[in-house]
Amino acid sequence: MKRLTILGATGSVGASTLDLVARNPERFQIQALTAGKDWRKLADLAVAHAARAAVIADEGAYAPLKEALADTGIDVAAGEQALVDIARQPVDLVVAAIVGAAGLPPTLAALQAGTSVALANKESLVCAGQLMTATARRTGAELLPVDSEHNAIFQVLEDRDRISRILLTASGGPFRTWTSEAMAAVTPAQAVKHPTWSMGAKISVDSATLMNKGLELIEAWHLFGVRPDQLGAIVHPQSLVHGLIEYIDGSVLAQLGPADMRVPIAHALAWPERIATPVERLNLAAIGRLDFEEADRQRFPALALAEAAMRAGDCRPCVLNAANEIAVAAFLEGRIGFLDIASIVAETLEALPSRCPENLEDVDEADRRARDRAQHFVKISRNRSFAVQRARG
Ligand code: NAD
Ligand code: MG
Repeated sequence: MKRLTILGATGSVGASTLDLVARNPERFQIQALTAGKDWRKLADLAVAHAARAAVIADEGAYAPLKEALADTGIDVAAGEQALVDIARQPVDLVVAAIVGAAGLPPTLAALQAGTSVALANKESLVCAGQLMTATARRTGAELLPVDSEHNAIFQVLEDRDRISRILLTASGGPFRTWTSEAMAAVTPAQAVKHPTWSMGAKISVDSATLMNKGLELIEAWHLFGVRPDQLGAIVHPQSLVHGLIEYIDGSVLAQLGPADMRVPIAHALAWPERIATPVERLNLAAIGRLDFEEADRQRFPALALAEAAMRAGDCRPCVLNAANEIAVAAFLEGRIGFLDIASIVAETLEALPSRCPENLEDVDEADRRARDRAQHFVKISRNRSFAVQRARG
């Protein structure tokens, strides 16, 4: 029996994880569930999965959550510190499924406590990869990749010293074949409609800009300890081949599977064993063909920005991530255009100096400054687009 804590239980990865937990009651038991703001959904899930504790990040949601779980015997807590505290509690596996850099403190706390982590929260690794991997090595905690591409690489990883290249696939997103002019007018509803995966809003927008693939290259850099020049991304619209490793002898090992997050999540939950999942099976004859093409960094500059940040190292990936979180939120609120996302990330990277983060405080500081600066660029780009609209009449 594995005891699990799920950080970000009310999200898309949280739901897929809980689906697998419910199908395997003899294997998994829920210790704690957490959420950002949605106390109603958290309360329902905590009851349905007989959790011992429910923790909500939003302190204002403490009272209604406490009330909703009165007489259930489920412990209730709220606030960022409470998230860190619950992540430190001994369990067999913490599933890190919070979106954004907000997931870093509790995920790091789990690793510091020596608890293995099934990691979906790529932003934590992008911001503080060295810190997280060094902590895992020190405490002996396993860092098990849930992100489908990284889970694929983990599954075909044989001999780290004999890798020549790692390739991550990208669907190309909903605008793969669109011109930049057409992308300028994209709405949030169009951007979150992913062609092959069903996911939370932020990662869906990241997939549409290809920033997601950029964040994933940085994630792979930390997870697999290869050089940036050994990492590549290739567009594969069917999303059936998830990741490939080319070894020095020319052999290429790839992992294939349906575009259903329950496959990589099941792998991370059961590792080093495997469990059955109810996902649709691949029918290669019906699929007929697998297509691959180069990513277009002119139309999708976010990918090139992330690759440059990875090569530069220091705080660049953290600044890139923070600026992207601000810009994506502004886009989803209808405050800026789709193409402004990458522009704001580029402007923020240019505006801020970079130095090597030594600890969590340094990462926090870089993250905070990048958010402030990106907010400033959001305002400027709003004014710019109002001016354009006024000029047009
Ligand atoms: P989501 O938006 O559906 O869910 C996010 C979860 O985090 C929710 O439970 C939410 O309540 C919680 N949360 C949000 N802000 C918070 C905060 N400030 N403090 C504490 N909790 C907070 O997101 P998702 O699509 O499930 O993605 C989660 C993570 O997994 C992301 O890092 C994403 O990049 C990664 N990921 C997701 C998928 C996918 O298929 N959805 C695939 C690969 C990787
Ligand atoms: Mg992925």
